[in-house]
Parts: sequence; structure tokens; C-alpha cells
Amino acid sequence: MAMKTYAIAAIPGDGIGPEVVDAGVEVLEAVAKRDGGFAVRVDRFDWGGDYYKKHGRMMPENGRDLIRKHDAILFGSAGHPDIPDHITLWGLRLAICQPFDQYANVRPTRVLPGITSPLRAVNGHELDWVIVRENSEGEYAGVGGRVHRGSPLEAATDVAMFTRAGVERIMRFAFRLARSRPRKFLTVVTKSNAQRHAMVMWDEIAAQIAAEFPDVKWDKMLVDAMTMRMVMRPQTLDTIVATNLHADILSDLAAALAGSLGIAPTANLNPERAFPSMFEPIHGSAFDIMGKGIANPIGTFWSSVMMLEHLGEPKAAARLMRGIEMVTADRRFHTPDLGGVARTADVTTAVLDAIHGANV
Ligand code: NAD
Ligand code: MN
Repeated sequence: MAMKTYAIAAIPGDGIGPEVVDAGVEVLEAVAKRDGGFAVRVDRFDWGGDYYKKHGRMMPENGRDLIRKHDAILFGSAGHPDIPDHITLWGLRLAICQPFDQYANVRPTRVLPGITSPLRAVNGHELDWVIVRENSEGEYAGVGGRVHRGSPLEAATDVAMFTRAGVERIMRFAFRLARSRPRKFLTVVTKSNAQRHAMVMWDEIAAQIAAEFPDVKWDKMLVDAMTMRMVMRPQTLDTIVATNLHADILSDLAAALAGSLGIAPTANLNPERAFPSMFEPIHGSAFDIMGKGIANPIGTFWSSVMMLEHLGEPKAAARLMRGIEMVTADRRFHTPDLGGVARTADVTTAVLDAIHGANV
């Protein structure tokens, strides 16, 4: 029987992106070899800020066609010190997410073994969340404009656009995900007190979709109050669904509460699999530490776990996750963001050793 080979498009991007994606590719290849049931073929695309400086765009015009047939995308970060953020973000990351209709952004948060949460009393059992972020419309729909530039009458709008189809599909995805987890509990984040059109529709659709999932308990939370609940009563949350903007902010808070931005993973999913899905650490280019070899690669490794789950390789995914947890449990392998002195390469080698070890 021919071995299954997954084609992975690696897009390291800018800043520490290449440092963590190179480490991620090494780990993916190792875990595939260890599993023995499948192989990965990684094609690397050096798009991003340096490409922009040479070509005036973040990726080639036919860039998406070059990765459309891949099984998954491993992404680093878009963001370059010399280029405005809206150009790097819209020119690369969103230029992939939106046309590939990766409408469900999934962000698990747990306090991994050996990691200290700033919420001192919290441990792994009390903070185990998955945040589902609507990833295709809402506040980041790109609808808006700017007129009378430079004049005192200058005006600008960003219109938060919500469609019934878009809200229905993300609610259905979130309820389904909540149902797959032991607690079967979903919190719908909203702001329907102050935003009385789209957020009210958001609430109504949540209630309609909830009726399809009688076995899932759910509640509703205003986004400002949600920040307090995440800090004060983290154990009362499980699966969370929120708009593009709200979930963007809440998931950075979640990452911080779990110990470091360097650990948190994310998946940009096209659940229908009409296009490849994209997996990336949630952190950005981290200009302050780029090129120093001290970036924490755990967020990229955990994102690779999500990729393996999506590809239908749960055994390899579980093995890699166990390897990650063995390594975080050992303080010798903590990078400076976690208060340690380890380097990216030390963490990578430790995870590779764990993958090859007999007990993982
Ligand atoms: P950032 O995530 O790059 O950095 C925030 C802080 O966290 C920095 O102090 C950084 O050193 C630290 N940090 C982040 N990842 C780390 C890791 N793996 N290991 C150790 N420390 C880590 O956020 P920022 O400073 O707001 O943004 C910098 C650039 O990255 C901007 O251009 C921004 O637009 C871009 N960005 C891109 C993405 C993305 O592509 N998904 C996400 C966020 C930010
Ligand atoms: Mn963000």
C-alpha cells in the first residue's frame, strides 16, 4: 500500500516566523517518521516583508494557486518593522484566510504542565477553554472607507458587517465543538446592549442554533464582563464563541492567562475542506527578540498538533502533544518568555527526543 503523504505549505513570514516555523517543520517530519503510517512533504514559500520590498507585494499574484492543492498550511507571522501592519496583514495572512474561507478560527487554551499562570490559584483543570473566533466578517470585514484625506473634514469608517449565513455557520461550528467536549458547554460572547443591530441579530441566531443542540448547555456574556469572568472565574468557562474583534482580544488575554503568548496555538479552518486550512502560533513577529534564537516554538508545535488532528492523524497528534507537555514540564526547557534561559533549538531538540522516546 502506498504511504499517505500530506503536502504542507510552510509560510514562515517575518520576524521570528522563520525561527519557529523551521522548528515546527522539523518536529512535524519527525512525528510522521515516528508514526510510520504517513509522511509529510513540506514546500516552503518565502513570502512576507522581504518579498514585499523586492516585489511590491507580500506574495505573488498567483500565490494562492500555488498552495490551493496543499493539505494544510503552516504559517509563522506577518508583520515587518519597516512596513505598515495593515499592508502585511491584508497582503498575506488575510489574503489567504479570506479567499480560502477559513471562517472558523479555533484557539485552545490550557495551562500546560510546568507553566505558571498569572492567575496563581489556577491549574490545568481550572483553565481548559477553546475560543472560536468568527474569522471571515464582522469588524474585520474590510468594509469602509476614508475620504477628504488630510483635510479637517477627513472621515473614516470601518463597518462591522454580519451576515445571517456567516453567523449561522460559526454558531453551528461552535455548538458542534462544544458538544464534542466533555462539559458540552458554550458561552456566546456579545455586546448587544450597546450595538443594537448586528449584535442583536448575533444573539437571535445563537438562540436559534442552540435549539438544534438540546444536549449543549449555553449562556451569553457581554464582552466587557467576559474579561472579568475569564480572570475571576475561569473554571466556569469551556467553549467560547465570539466575533472577529472580540475573540481577537479575548484570545490574547487567554494566552496570557495560560502563561505566555509564545505557547498559544490557532487553527484557521475551512470546515468544509474546500480549501486548505491554516495553522499558526497566535503570536506575531516579535521584533524585540527576532534573530536571537530565543523564540518559544511551543505555539507552533501545538499548532502542528491541531494540523495533525485536522488531517486525521489523531495518534501522531496525541504523541506530539504528550511530547510538548513532557518538555514544558521540565524548567530546563523554558525560554525567556517563561522565565527560563533555554533557546529555540534546545526546546526543539527536547521535543524531538520526546517524540523518539519510548514512553511517548
Ligand atoms: P508579538 O506577538 O509579535 O509580540 C508581543 C510580545 O510577545 C513581544 O514582547 C514578543 O517578544 C513576545 N513574544 C511573542 N511571541 C513570542 C514567542 N514565540 N516567544 C517568546 N516571546 C514571544 O505582537 P506585537 O508586538 O503586537 O506585533 C509585532 C508584529 O507582529 C506586528 O507587525 C504585528 O502586526 C504582527 N502580528 C502578526 C500576527 C500574525 O501574523 N498572526 C499576529 C500578531 C501580530
Ligand atoms: Mn490578535
